[in-house]
Amino acid sequence: MQSATSYQSIDLPGRFEAELGKLVRRIGAAATKIGMKLLISNDDGIYSEGVRALANGLANSGHDVTVVCPDRERSATGHGLTLHQPIRAEVVQSVFHPAVKAWACSGTPADCVKLALWALLDSKPDLVLSGINHGSNLGTDVLYSGTVSAAMEGVVEGIPAIAFSLTSFTVREFAPAAAFAQRLVTQLEKHPLPELLLLNVNVPAVAEAAIAGVAITRQGIRRYVDVFEKRIDPRGKTYYWLAGEVLEDVEEPSEFAEYAITDVEANRQNYISITPLQYNLTSVRGLAALKDWHCR
Ligand code: MN
Repeated sequence: MQSATSYQSIDLPGRFEAELGKLVRRIGAAATKIGMKLLISNDDGIYSEGVRALANGLANSGHDVTVVCPDRERSATGHGLTLHQPIRAEVVQSVFHPAVKAWACSGTPADCVKLALWALLDSKPDLVLSGINHGSNLGTDVLYSGTVSAAMEGVVEGIPAIAFSLTSFTVREFAPAAAFAQRLVTQLEKHPLPELLLLNVNVPAVAEAAIAGVAITRQGIRRYVDVFEKRIDPRGKTYYWLAGEVLEDVEEPSEFAEYAITDVEANRQNYISITPLQYNLTSVRGLAALKDWHCR
């Protein structure tokens, strides 16, 4: 605090001097501050390996990390909100790096981010992160994804956001994805995004050395042929259970085809895919197509 000594020779009333000292210390702290203020959520629940890998890695590199996650798995809940029951949030200890503040929340992923931004955090985070999801969020998956919705809630509130997913439901090796998350956050700290975006990041579930690189991609199309099992309950009534799906990746002509390959294709080639997403779903082509359409 060199500058703190430079004003002491001036004869200032004590109170003013103390206030000035506080101000100088605050300016000094702001100038030397490293790291970003990060809010992290997910849809696999607070005890999942992916969120621990993400939060602990970023806390270790000096970022100010707050975690607010569902208290249980909430995958495929999309952007759902809890309106007809209370939302509870409890402080969670001993699960994360000691510098991480963590809450387990009874709500959905979108509830978690809303609650954090409006009730739990003392100030706005620089970034909202979600994940690392255990399983891919490629193509049309983003519409069902709680992981992507948690990040999107940040963007809705004007905060840039990143959703991270590991593209395997079986492989549990989160380290390469966590390492990439740290590199990406560092890059965004030095070079903020030129506009408000959600970056949907999918990391192939392979050894770090096998990752081919990073590709900026467009959202692909995945079509699921859903398989429902029809069963009879013990009281003789029929019920259905979504038992599985057959995945079809569809390549449709796209106006963006010349700019980028799809996230699905990039991951097939072992690239980390980064797809910029927005919440405005207006179809520009649709506006043009409906221009002369008279509806009465
Ligand atoms: Mn999930």
